[in-house]
Amino acid sequence: MANYDVIIIGAGPGGYVCAIRCAQLGLKTAVVEGRETLGGTCLNVGCIPSKALLHATHSLHEAEHNFARMGLKGKSPSVDWAQMQAYKQEVVAQNTKGIEFLFKKNRIDWIKGWATIPAPGQVKVGEEVHKARRIVIATGSEPATIPGVEIDEERVVSSTGALSLPKVPKKMVVIGAGVIGLELGSVYARLGTQVTVVEYLDTITPGMDSDVQKTLQRILKKQGLTFILGAAVQKVTSTKTKAKVAYQLRKDSSEATLEADIVLVATGRKPFTGGLGLEALGVELTPRGQIRTDGHWATNIPGIYAIGDAIEGPMLAHKAEDEGIAVAEVLAGKAGHVNYAVIPSVIYTTPEVASVGLTEQELKEAGRAYKVGKFSFMGNARAKAVFQGEGFVKIIADAETDRILGAHIIGPAAGDMIHEICVAMEFGAAAQDVALTCHAHPTYSEAVREAALACGDGAIHA
Ligand code: NAD
Repeated sequence: MANYDVIIIGAGPGGYVCAIRCAQLGLKTAVVEGRETLGGTCLNVGCIPSKALLHATHSLHEAEHNFARMGLKGKSPSVDWAQMQAYKQEVVAQNTKGIEFLFKKNRIDWIKGWATIPAPGQVKVGEEVHKARRIVIATGSEPATIPGVEIDEERVVSSTGALSLPKVPKKMVVIGAGVIGLELGSVYARLGTQVTVVEYLDTITPGMDSDVQKTLQRILKKQGLTFILGAAVQKVTSTKTKAKVAYQLRKDSSEATLEADIVLVATGRKPFTGGLGLEALGVELTPRGQIRTDGHWATNIPGIYAIGDAIEGPMLAHKAEDEGIAVAEVLAGKAGHVNYAVIPSVIYTTPEVASVGLTEQELKEAGRAYKVGKFSFMGNARAKAVFQGEGFVKIIADAETDRILGAHIIGPAAGDMIHEICVAMEFGAAAQDVALTCHAHPTYSEAVREAALACGDGAIHA
């Protein structure tokens, strides 16, 4: 048993990044993690394995749809599902072992097991009680289901089950057209599964720019996904071989059912805080079950802090990482800071979708004057060379000052390109600053510059 400056509970992107920064700042640090491997949901059953499956199935899609037109002839590859799963696990293992290496390098102790907090300053794992001056809760989130739907991880699965299905299903119903539903729906559609996405709202990807929503839906439809929008799923019943999804259309209350081999429940996630003993400690929660924190990630109990999916804000790995670094700095007596106005979000479909800052909808609601510069990838030589001319870059700037307020991209490498705008926004840049910056040719990023030019005197290639 040792005394620590900081014990962090949870080794996901929030917790492990926080631990590394604490150690770098000279704090004696331990992390409690009950999983067999470090990295939390993101590395083990989230961001990373899904990206491996997205990459593999995108490659298949390229071979099936684009190879012949590039003069690459021959039979398309067939799918060895067991090998694809092995590849995915190898990617996961490389990454989780990487965190273990970083822990050793930074002299961070990994306390294996599930933690409870019996009292401020104490973390109990098994029978042992460890002492810490400060505790950071970074326990993340777990899939949330809806009334009438029970996840069994066999026929009715969360993203966790969907990443490791024993075989590729013939028919899949996805409940929820959010990030998980569309990414994993894309994976299986590319593998030949008949995928139907049932969404409560009238649009896909809630909260995203409406031009992006429409374009993405059109493209995904062409890729074989079927959408039933404005439909509330009411019940899922499953037998040994099939599942039935009953839903009601909101516009006319008509009811219908769909049959599937697998149902993926992608209706959001909820904070994973059970078993920590928060109620007994008197830790204040929000009505949505998130741990309430102040501007420095402190809970109402002195010495206990919380970050990531367990608190308010977008449930994104990189938001948790930023909070991990910032709270470590606060604990080391420095001024930790997260700029919540500049947190990008990305959907890793093909094409990718990326967004940062405000949408037109939000600006309209706020009654603010803005201008829009939009540029289609049809005018971008590089995108056309790789058959990705669909999609666009849209930059929104203040009507008077030209300061960039948001950007929404659907197109190749959107998830990487968005960072140019993130940096610009961090510096309070105007659209003209981006427009005046030389961009290499031929790159996808030229479309970002063209959209910035479109905020002023006009894009060149439009
Ligand atoms: P989400 O909140 O993105 O989408 C859930 C969708 O389910 C919504 O569109 C909602 O309207 C719909 N829904 C809710 N109840 C319904 C019902 N009864 N019938 C039909 N539809 C219903 O949630 P998610 O996709 O499950 O993702 C969970 C979290 O994980 C999100 O916060 C997401 O940001 C995060 N995540 C991020 C990434 C990424 O950054 N690429 C990837 C995966 C997950």
